[in-house]
Amino acid sequence: MLTGKHLIAGQWVAGPAIFQSSPVSGSPDTFAVGTNDHVADAAAGAEAAFPSYSDSSRTQRAAFLNRIAAEIDARGDAITAIGSRETGLPEARLINERGRTVGQLELFARHIEAGDYLDRRHDPALPDRQPLPRSDLRLLQRPLGPVAVFGASNFPLAFSVAGGDTAAALAAGCPVVVKGHSAHPGTGELVAQAIDAARRACNLHPGVFSFVQGGNREVGAALVQHPLIKAVGFTGSLSGGRALFDLCAQRPEPIPFFGELGSVNPMFLLPAAMSARAANIGKGWAASLTMGVGQFCTNPGVAVVMEGPDTDIFTAAALASLQTAAEQAMLTEAIASAYRQGVEKFAQAAGVQQLLAANCSRRAVSPAIHITTARQWLANPELSEEVFGPFGLIVKAADFSEMLAIAKALHGQLTCTLQLEPADAEQARQLLPILERKAGRLLANGFPTGVEVCDSMVHGGPYPASTNFGATSVGTMAIRRFLRPVCYQDIPQELLPADC
Ligand code: NAP
Repeated sequence: MLTGKHLIAGQWVAGPAIFQSSPVSGSPDTFAVGTNDHVADAAAGAEAAFPSYSDSSRTQRAAFLNRIAAEIDARGDAITAIGSRETGLPEARLINERGRTVGQLELFARHIEAGDYLDRRHDPALPDRQPLPRSDLRLLQRPLGPVAVFGASNFPLAFSVAGGDTAAALAAGCPVVVKGHSAHPGTGELVAQAIDAARRACNLHPGVFSFVQGGNREVGAALVQHPLIKAVGFTGSLSGGRALFDLCAQRPEPIPFFGELGSVNPMFLLPAAMSARAANIGKGWAASLTMGVGQFCTNPGVAVVMEGPDTDIFTAAALASLQTAAEQAMLTEAIASAYRQGVEKFAQAAGVQQLLAANCSRRAVSPAIHITTARQWLANPELSEEVFGPFGLIVKAADFSEMLAIAKALHGQLTCTLQLEPADAEQARQLLPILERKAGRLLANGFPTGVEVCDSMVHGGPYPASTNFGATSVGTMAIRRFLRPVCYQDIPQELLPADC
């Protein structure tokens, strides 16, 4: 049952103004608009919770994470129903995404129980060392403080209220304040209810978790600037992420902003692979491009190929797969409108040929493909921008040196993919050191959509894929973002944190 309210440090509270959701079907629901006062109360609650929560045992926090997972599952049908109405995503997709969300929470529970993330180090005292004795030195990773989390519209569960950022921060021992996404406020509230129930069942401080609905942009700006907030986890657009990142940097006390932003996830299709399976690669690319109406951060939006007959086969196969694709609803009208404008802008750029035009009627869109040359792509920086949705750009290189030039000119990416056969090894060897500097994840002979949640995953990369080098928002290493190392020198054992 929706309340339409914010959850502030254990209390469900309304506010002076309201906004309505924009579901693809059914009538809209009404929600309280977040205000700066809500943000201040949530941040104060998080700070009040910090001493006890940061000092809780790993077993207590693991039990909390597992309980959140169970409470989400217990509300599974209601979450799927409202999630599908608000986002237009099919129910099966949301059921899968719930499985991933619950799995992430349980993974972090196991991860902190194991304790390796603490990176414990100990250099015992050397009282007799000459010329100077050495103190007893211990290092431990400690939680940062209250963390603000912004979810993305395209993952209303796995990258939202109880998504990877929240799971990682709570696992680390940091209280969390979530700014709800206005594209799925009801889904967000039901998940917040699940976290609230888990928090009560585990008898934790009410300030451990708060959820403030949006409804205006000021609330997000106020949250990242609040002096009690010590780090931000963000998944979303380049423009929104950059605006909030800049606010964090301008604070009297700048704080880390862990933003996962845009990426075009280029694929490099090498000659022997194309000669062996151009049509299959074309079909696979089309499927990856249109999955979830192209609304994946790992959507492979650019295919870099070498001119020749195999490229014609690849292009024809991709086109054949996409021509029959039906229009599908995007997450919001604003996202559909940005997609339409992006496809149009590319179609009008010099040297770009439109192979498949998108049909768009309000929120529903179909895929589009354009083709250009490496020379044009290199000359026009706008062609390297992301068009969020089922849009693909084929870039034809005249020779391998142009392919290398494209690799060198890339901005930071979440992923880069090679399609290769053994005979492509020499070219792959030249590309890989370049691509390694550009992306968080390198793939061979696959498609980047679909991110495994595990120890080895990196979902990040150089800017703008992410705003922090060395950070990932998926996988167990994501916990590091909300920890900082503290060295304890000669502190008596009985005063050290229990984990030391
Ligand atoms: P978004 O529009 O940037 O929204 C994300 C959140 O930030 C929302 O809560 C939004 O508030 C808030 N926000 C945005 N601009 C703001 C501003 N100027 N001031 C204050 N708050 C602001 O992103 P989205 O539409 O949810 O996500 C789609 C984009 O995310 C795509 O470009 C996609 O590629 C990218 N993405 C990246 C990854 C990754 O891991 N790199 C993953 C998924 C998606 P409102 O609720 O008011 O809109």
